[in-house]
Amino acid sequence: MLSKTAKEQLIAITGKDRFSDAVEILTCYSYDSFLEEAMPEAVLFPVSTKEVSEILQVASAHKIPVTARGAGTSVCGAPIAVNQGIVLCFTKMDKIIEINTPDRYAIVQPGVINGELQRALAPEGFFFPPDPGSMNFSTIGGNVALNAGGPRCLKYGVTVDYVLSMEVVLASGEVIRFGSRNIKDVTGYKLSALFCGSEGTLGIITELTLRVVPCPETAQTLMVTFDELDNTAKSVSDIIGSGILPVAIELVDKVGMNALENALHQDLPTEAAGTLLIEVDGIKESCEREIEKITDILKKNHAVSIIKATEEADRNRLWAARRAAYGVFAKIAPDILSEDVTVPVSKVPEMVRSINSTIGKYKLKGGVLAHAGDGNMHPFICADRNDKEEWAKVEAAFKEIFTDAAALHGTLSGEHGIGLAKTQFLPLVMDEASRKFLTTIKRAVDPDNILNPGKLV
Ligand SMILES: Cc1cc2nc3c(=O)[nH]c(=O)nc-3n(C[C@H](O)[C@H](O)[C@H](O)COP(=O)(O)OP(=O)(O)OC[C@H]3O[C@@H](n4cnc5c(N)ncnc54)[C@H](O)[C@@H]3O)c2cc1C
Repeated sequence: MLSKTAKEQLIAITGKDRFSDAVEILTCYSYDSFLEEAMPEAVLFPVSTKEVSEILQVASAHKIPVTARGAGTSVCGAPIAVNQGIVLCFTKMDKIIEINTPDRYAIVQPGVINGELQRALAPEGFFFPPDPGSMNFSTIGGNVALNAGGPRCLKYGVTVDYVLSMEVVLASGEVIRFGSRNIKDVTGYKLSALFCGSEGTLGIITELTLRVVPCPETAQTLMVTFDELDNTAKSVSDIIGSGILPVAIELVDKVGMNALENALHQDLPTEAAGTLLIEVDGIKESCEREIEKITDILKKNHAVSIIKATEEADRNRLWAARRAAYGVFAKIAPDILSEDVTVPVSKVPEMVRSINSTIGKYKLKGGVLAHAGDGNMHPFICADRNDKEEWAKVEAAFKEIFTDAAALHGTLSGEHGIGLAKTQFLPLVMDEASRKFLTTIKRAVDPDNILNPGKLV
């Protein structure tokens, strides 16, 4: 329970206009895009590192749980304040501090929206590769804390590959900085990697220096349909196995494509058992050669139709449906659980088969959507959480899917994180000694467990 003294001390830092404990406000900060909810006792909107440090000093003195929050779009329950306490919302720390293209970095506050950074970089001929489907509304702080990915991470890598340096406020309120503005920096432990994916459990990020990269000269996109899902999945491992590294290879199955067409009416290939969206980028000549080679592989795998888009408007049209997927699937039933497992690419055909057979076995409505080129599967199931019998089947199905992925040398998350959704399943992919090591790190930096308790460890 937030004491009167603690509340007064917190208000003294932010003022009354950036502190709220009104129920109607707190409700807005009690959930994310996962299915759990928990009410915090107060929400604060800091505007500077100094304020964050002062807030944490108060929280530390009174042992108040602190949960950082960006846009609240997490799909694993990561920003939910399960132990109550305070939510620190970063939407007012949203400045792009510097863009430096010769040195290839951008310095941002954690509340900057990913898409805003992309729009600021574009006129300079640069971009920030991590492109989560939520890029137009999720924050860079949230992207870093969950180590977000997206379609083009197949070629370019995930968020951790782009964090050069960080300013972090520790649980005690102490401010630390590590890394630098240099692309090459091997001075000491790579602490930015430790904080990427730490889900706000180790420290609060107040500034980030990100590596940015030049935009490619051109890009080409293929939309390819198959009448067997097996051939769709096999094409993915054959393309990657051939040595070509496209920017993205996305897979949508029949259930997903029909849901998209019903919502968007774009004349999408609803008859196809599987559809691939494949993009390559680089100089025009190399794109053309890669597309030729990819087309040969697709034909060998009995592709039914191959549509090529070279103009930006046509490419955007093909991508628009894919980017809308999560919101559209949410309309199939009252609730949707979209999960996130990754397997080595050679196991994509097996994993796609296994997901479909599990969903079929439990007679549930769902399918698979995947950043298939890097083996990152998003199996989704649409159901009604109030139907206890049906929901028990959903949970059993996902447990089987996680177990099957682990058995294929896969892992529990490729980009969404662990949060509340999957902490209980960590033993499937981490042995006891490794999990204990996570706890050792957590205890060393946050001995009173005030930072986002209940997640990861
Ligand atoms: C429609 C839709 C599509 C999506 N597509 C993708 C996708 O393609 N790829 C992908 O990876 N994810 C995707 N997501 C999930 C989500 O958008 C990402 O995980 C995103 O990175 C979360 O950012 P956020 O600002 O909403 O963070 P939040 O949800 O607010 O917080 C996420 C985590 O970050 C921590 N955090 C936030 N700010 C800080 C900070 N300053 N310091 C320390 N910790 C902090 C929080 O405590 C929490 O643990 C999608 C979600 C939706 C709703």
